[in-house]
Amino acid sequence: MRLQLLAFAAILGAVPVEAAPDGASKAVDAFVATPALTPASAAEAKASCDSYLDRAAALQAALEKQPGTALTLRRYDELMLVLNAALFDASIVDQTGATAELRDAGRACQAAVGNRQTAISLSRPIYDRLKAAPVPGDPVARRILTRTLEGYERAGVAGDAAARARITALQEKITADGLTFDSNIANGRKTITAKPAELAGLPADFIKARPPGADGLVTISTDYPDVGPVMNYAKSDDLRRRLLITNNNRAPENDAVLTSLLNGRDALAHELGRPDYAALILEDKMLDTPAKVRAMLDDVATAATGASDRDFARMLARLQKTDPSVQALTPWRTAYARTLIRAEDYAVDPQEVRRYFAYDNVQKGIFRLTEDLFGVQIRPWATKLWSPDAQAFEIVEKGEVIGRFYLDTHPRPGKYNHANVVPIRFGLTGRALPVAALVTNFPSGGHDTGLMEHRDVETFLHEFGHLLHVMFSGRQDWHQANMANLEWDFIEAPSQMLENWVWDYDTLKLFAVDADGKVIPKELVEKMNRARFFGDALSARSGLGLSNVSLSYHSGSAPADLTAAYRTAWDRYAIPPMMDGISPQNSFGHLNGYSAIYYTYTWSKIIATDLFSLFQAQGLRDPATAARYRQQVLAPGGSKPAAELVQDFLGRPLSLEAYRKQLEQGSTPGS
Ligand SMILES: [Zn+2]
Repeated sequence: MRLQLLAFAAILGAVPVEAAPDGASKAVDAFVATPALTPASAAEAKASCDSYLDRAAALQAALEKQPGTALTLRRYDELMLVLNAALFDASIVDQTGATAELRDAGRACQAAVGNRQTAISLSRPIYDRLKAAPVPGDPVARRILTRTLEGYERAGVAGDAAARARITALQEKITADGLTFDSNIANGRKTITAKPAELAGLPADFIKARPPGADGLVTISTDYPDVGPVMNYAKSDDLRRRLLITNNNRAPENDAVLTSLLNGRDALAHELGRPDYAALILEDKMLDTPAKVRAMLDDVATAATGASDRDFARMLARLQKTDPSVQALTPWRTAYARTLIRAEDYAVDPQEVRRYFAYDNVQKGIFRLTEDLFGVQIRPWATKLWSPDAQAFEIVEKGEVIGRFYLDTHPRPGKYNHANVVPIRFGLTGRALPVAALVTNFPSGGHDTGLMEHRDVETFLHEFGHLLHVMFSGRQDWHQANMANLEWDFIEAPSQMLENWVWDYDTLKLFAVDADGKVIPKELVEKMNRARFFGDALSARSGLGLSNVSLSYHSGSAPADLTAAYRTAWDRYAIPPMMDGISPQNSFGHLNGYSAIYYTYTWSKIIATDLFSLFQAQGLRDPATAARYRQQVLAPGGSKPAAELVQDFLGRPLSLEAYRKQLEQGSTPGS
């Protein structure tokens, strides 16, 4: 930590005095100092939201009026700070509020803040002031200013009035098409019928929940709870084939919507002077050109080929053992074959595993891991909570509180039903401590009520990783140097890396005990690890296929034949080849939210695996490696380009080697 502080002192010396936090900054700090997380009523939540919005409007008006000076970036930073504070408070109320009225007020506030953010992101006067501000000597401030101006330019704010009007119209059309695309998928539920005998192989509770109708046939839908089990377990080859075809023809009306969406994005890119939409959206990513993404996809394909071809042959051989007439491993056979091999060669009984993961022990274990790795203490924090289920803690280092967090980890009616971290406040050196909340839905208690699936333990640690990123990046001189301003294609990597510790016996033995206090057997953990990566190389190639669809759809105007273009892009990387009679693009929901950047899933896995390779070499519980990781990767938050964080820690540029080895390992036989 000492080195870190010295580095900041040196940077601070270079900052012009007038841009350092001043009296006005202190007033903003005081205004956001107490998060409004526990409003007594919807009216109180709304009043709190309004006061944030009033403050933001005043800051915005002042910013638009003043000429661009060294203070402009500081004032803009404070405006972002106030808006984020409003957004995060509202997110907590939306996700955790005790009543529907409270949660609605939280949602309404998020929408209002979103509108204000959009207005600011399109404000020509603010762009002009920032553009006129002197280029800061401090590299962090310079990075913030550069990225902010580039964001304005990508939004089309720099153009003349006519161009701005055309851009706004295009953006509105893109948003509307995207919403239609998503809602057609959401409403595209289809069903097929099956003879009861075709359900052979499926779990008994699945069959029991789907009795035959008056016609003697069972109805199977394209909902996830139907598709997953059928593709994994149904012995009937034809049932799997029929369901896959229906599932991939859910939203035929989306062909026209997708064509309009892709053409709108292409026109927007041209309006902004870019060759295509992929080039535009990649500009602020780690992989900042389509050529770099394509090169990465090619590299991973080469790395995955050997292992995936072996898995492929093994799966086909397994099917032929039962039915010698099977000629090919078709798309409706892969999940089924993989499930068979998993059960036969890597048998791990999830029921046996979960006996060792009682929630209370898991929470303690994750705290202990954090304390051991990073040399901090976690202790209860006495503060007002929004629910008796919630808990609050502070992180202490050398006697000093460095961050505070909430855990709201168990389900309640009306609560947010996924898992996420809300960064309530990002830390500012000498001005504000970081505060964050982890909101999840795990069972609660000990071995009687709180047993968790192992993958839920992994999710817990993954989300806790995001929380630690907020905590450990809490010393910044600028709000916009926060970790959420890192490149989008990096942000998942630290959490993905941390997942590895729930597969480590030396970590598990400290908290994974059964009801009698018996520690999880080492052999069981080894068995879990052998099963862990089987089939990964094949999945990786599917990921590459989808990445290529997402990228190539955004590399020009919409293809005349979307299905044919999908086939070309998919078949370049994935096996088995795309089957006939389906139009998977119409239900590929990521095409709206992720547009050209589906590749981020593969890319962040490469980063996470490479970062982890250093821990594998130095020891998963080596405090020196953990301290260096914290200081070089987490502590800088978004103050530096992600590639530099990775290079600082690894002592070399990012490499595919560790991920390649992991893919290879996945194809080794089990017991
Ligand atoms: Zn995540």
